[in-house]
Amino acid sequence: MGMGVAGSYLMARLRDSEHDVAGYEMMPAERHDSICAWGTIKPVLSEFCSKVGIDFDRFLIHDGKRMRVRMGSGTRFDIGLHGLCTYDKLGLIKEFMRGSDITYGKPPTLATLEKEYDMIVDCTGFHRAYLPKLSEDFFLPTYEYKVEYDDGVPYDDFYIEPFPGMSGYFWYFPLGEKWAHIGAGDYNKNHIKATDDFLQKHGGRIIKTKGRPIRLATPNRCKPFYSGKVVGVGESIGTVYALLGEGIIPSMQCAEIFLANMNDHAAYERAVDDHYRVYGRVFNFVRAKIHKEFSFVRSLPDFMSIFRYMKKHEDRFGMDIRMADLIKVARA
Ligand SMILES: Cc1cc2nc3c(=O)[nH]c(=O)nc-3n(C[C@H](O)[C@H](O)[C@H](O)COP(=O)(O)OP(=O)(O)OC[C@H]3O[C@@H](n4cnc5c(N)ncnc54)[C@H](O)[C@@H]3O)c2cc1C
Repeated sequence: MGMGVAGSYLMARLRDSEHDVAGYEMMPAERHDSICAWGTIKPVLSEFCSKVGIDFDRFLIHDGKRMRVRMGSGTRFDIGLHGLCTYDKLGLIKEFMRGSDITYGKPPTLATLEKEYDMIVDCTGFHRAYLPKLSEDFFLPTYEYKVEYDDGVPYDDFYIEPFPGMSGYFWYFPLGEKWAHIGAGDYNKNHIKATDDFLQKHGGRIIKTKGRPIRLATPNRCKPFYSGKVVGVGESIGTVYALLGEGIIPSMQCAEIFLANMNDHAAYERAVDDHYRVYGRVFNFVRAKIHKEFSFVRSLPDFMSIFRYMKKHEDRFGMDIRMADLIKVARA
């Protein structure tokens, strides 16, 4: 259920399997979109795509070299990039779905699905439509424009402005010669103003307006992962790296974990808990900042394990991970 990145990738991975799979997407086909800035890490996506015989380069839009960061205090610095890119996310989702049985529009009720299928995979992202409601969710509102620039783009590469207190950030993600996604997510709800201010300052024509909440509550806070015949994969069970608001790769990794444990939900839960353990620490760190409960001393163990994790997986994050940069962001 749900043809976002997790659901569509699962369709592709299961297409030639022993399973009889049907996909459902809530939106009508002509309005099916991907509300996202479309930023990801090229080598990681290339590897996922190679598992289903797709050449990721066909969908690549912009291969980043450096990301400019401007803090609220005016401090500026650059982060070297090694794989952070933008890609045609919707195009790749459609490619993943090619040749599969997909029904668009009003989805069936849980009762109907339960009669018809042995297993129902909830890939509905933030909606988590088929799993029990979370007792305590945590999400940020977001807002985004796709903008066209007729007289030259304002930035030729990635640009972000983290908000004070790490309540979110503004992003400018390049989409080729004359387009970009500009948008923001902010716990303190300045996301629309920040996006409009940038638009006013740099001009450009709005082609699309999008927005939806992004779940920052991590898997350890998104239980249950399964209930009756339903099992959740992707953002429905909190697979977003809270520091970056990054959910594409974590959701695809979750799909892989699901495939490896399809017949054993308890084993799936254990594997998810294991894989996303550090995400819980990242979430604690971000939430403490947002709620102004952050103290460097108290958060030092979390901070150090986040740094070590990101440094160790520098290739996976597609950028230079430096302690000094992380401290600048943490001090925001
Ligand atoms: C504004 C914004 C910008 C972002 N930018 C980035 C980024 O640049 N890079 C990154 O890595 N992550 C980004 N993220 C996060 C990332 O987009 C998500 O975490 C990721 O797409 C989650 O994938 P998913 O498949 O689990 O869910 P989704 O991509 O949300 O897909 C869920 C799908 O389910 C459908 N659906 C909902 N309810 C039902 C239902 N009842 N029945 C059937 N279908 C249903 C929806 O229409 C949708 O197609 C961003 C998020 C937002 C909101």
